[in-house]
Amino acid sequence: MKFLNPALDDLEPYVPGEQPRTNEFIKLNTNENPYPPAPETATAVAATIQQLQLYPDPTCDGLMTDLAAYLGVKEENVFLANGSDEVLGFCFQRLMGQGVAFPDITYGFYKVFAQMYGVATEVIPLQEDFTIDFADYQGVTGTIIFANPNAPTSYGKSLAEMEALVAADPERLVIVDEAYVEFGGETLVPLTAKYDNLLVVGTFSKAWQLAGARLGYAVGCPALMEELNRVKFSFNPYSINSMTMAAGKAALQDLGYHRQCLNAVIQTRTMTTGALEDLGFEVLPSQTNFLFAKHSQVAGEELYQRLKEHNVLVRWFSQDRIKDYIRITIGTPEQMIKMLEIMEVLR
Ligand SMILES: *Cc1c(COP(=O)(O)O)cnc(C)c1O
Repeated sequence: MKFLNPALDDLEPYVPGEQPRTNEFIKLNTNENPYPPAPETATAVAATIQQLQLYPDPTCDGLMTDLAAYLGVKEENVFLANGSDEVLGFCFQRLMGQGVAFPDITYGFYKVFAQMYGVATEVIPLQEDFTIDFADYQGVTGTIIFANPNAPTSYGKSLAEMEALVAADPERLVIVDEAYVEFGGETLVPLTAKYDNLLVVGTFSKAWQLAGARLGYAVGCPALMEELNRVKFSFNPYSINSMTMAAGKAALQDLGYHRQCLNAVIQTRTMTTGALEDLGFEVLPSQTNFLFAKHSQVAGEELYQRLKEHNVLVRWFSQDRIKDYIRITIGTPEQMIKMLEIMEVLR
């Protein structure tokens, strides 16, 4: 086809975890929250339907006010988009002028975006034990991006270490993807007031039970927000629809429910970690809503297949360094117990 853009001939798209169309599976493969959205969400979303003939508010005023208040920053420090994937896409379009550096094991979308937007990429291997050593980033001049806590390793870096990385070079942008921070990491949002070269990316998909609504955000200095808005308003000013805005607002209005669900996931994580260890797994200490675990006898792919045969979906990555592991999302206690029952044969 002569009309294709050759720059994308080798593009390898991101492969999302399976989303089966039936309810027969226990889904522990895409780090969704096992609990439903805040109780008021249904009413709030329903109320927008009478106004669906209108375009959504391109500045997301109400949601913006509530989110900025929740994060303890000013509205001029917040950017909203259709899921954090879209935020990240805009970052790769505009904020990687000096190239990008990220770990070999981290969120798979960074590599795809870099390819998509032709960004010069430096991949920096994690340490042998899957931790990040910032000494490895000393000479890097391009934008640094990784998830903190990282995925799929579930490890987090401390606030002090992160601040040292950001402070090391004010000319170098550090983008921290905090998709899982609510489950036990330390957020860098307060540091955005101090450092103009820090951008924090967050999402409502994991800790706010709204993966299906598609809502993500970034926090940083006004100049960075302005650049992200330039890209967004050159692409789709309405990327957040009215229903999603209402859902996001409803989530932020019920912080009690938010905390309750977070605590439940964290408790279930502790229970599941212990039970997996009893079955001969090595489980990395998790600051997220998933566990990264490997069995002493059974290969990752086999575990994945065995669970799938019993209608439990987990995530397995074929990447060489991590192919012995499976990533298990923390579900409800009942879901975890079923998953563990299937694993009992390993005992
Ligand atoms: C899930 C996830 C995202 C994507 O979140 P959306 O807001 O649903 O697009 C981004 N980064 C990491 C590390 C994730 O795990």
